Amino acid sequence: MTRSTDNPPPLLGAHFSIAGGLEKALYTAADYGCTAAQMFTKNASTWKERDITEEETARFAVAAEKTSIREIAAHTAYLINLAAPDAEKHARSCAALGRELVRASQLAIPYVVLHPGAHMGKGENRGIASIVDSINRVVDSVRELRTRLLIETTAGQGSVLGHRFEQIAQILETVEAAEHIGACLDTCHIFAAGYDIRSAEGVAGPWTNSTGPSGFGTCFSCISTTRKRGWAAGSTATSTSAGGRSEKRAFGPL
Ligand SMILES: [Zn+2]
Repeated sequence: MTRSTDNPPPLLGAHFSIAGGLEKALYTAADYGCTAAQMFTKNASTWKERDITEEETARFAVAAEKTSIREIAAHTAYLINLAAPDAEKHARSCAALGRELVRASQLAIPYVVLHPGAHMGKGENRGIASIVDSINRVVDSVRELRTRLLIETTAGQGSVLGHRFEQIAQILETVEAAEHIGACLDTCHIFAAGYDIRSAEGVAGPWTNSTGPSGFGTCFSCISTTRKRGWAAGSTATSTSAGGRSEKRAFGPL
């Protein structure tokens, strides 16, 4: 597939597996005709860390060059909770996020998607303050940071934060390194959280509100999480399902 800078196709992608090598995610994405891809850089369900070797970095760079993938996002491990009241869990979360940012920087992945965290009963304000403070310290600790951390909207189960646009906006507005932060809009999550985006009127409400996504100013990615194969394109916030068991996430910049 050749690249065209005159009239590039719209960004459209999904989450792809890294089984067999990190670069496999890009080659698989290209096979599907995608122009964007999301991936993990480690097993997302464990605390077990991994380092990126120079060989991996080189193979990934070749894949990025060879394929049509114009934008890449790495999704962080699910166990990370920057709002965790437990000191050990919090410290572990900060360390894990730092490793995620290092890996993404080494691979020249421009975006890292993060679930903001759960306050575990300590309250929204304390939770958001912990998230902001944690991001400040982690971003500050990573040398040669070459990626941008995107805070993903959530469905808001339990004490999970990020299910209101105001919460995302508060995090984005408060962190110190604005150039290293942004938002990731998950259309499935926000629908589950109560934003009815099935119609133009439903989308217009929060989108025209200054505290909505249009007010973020730094919304780089739009994804749709589904347990079936799903696709979503840019700011149209639409998705269709065609069956299948694996979880797929599609994204593109707004
Ligand atoms: Zn996510």
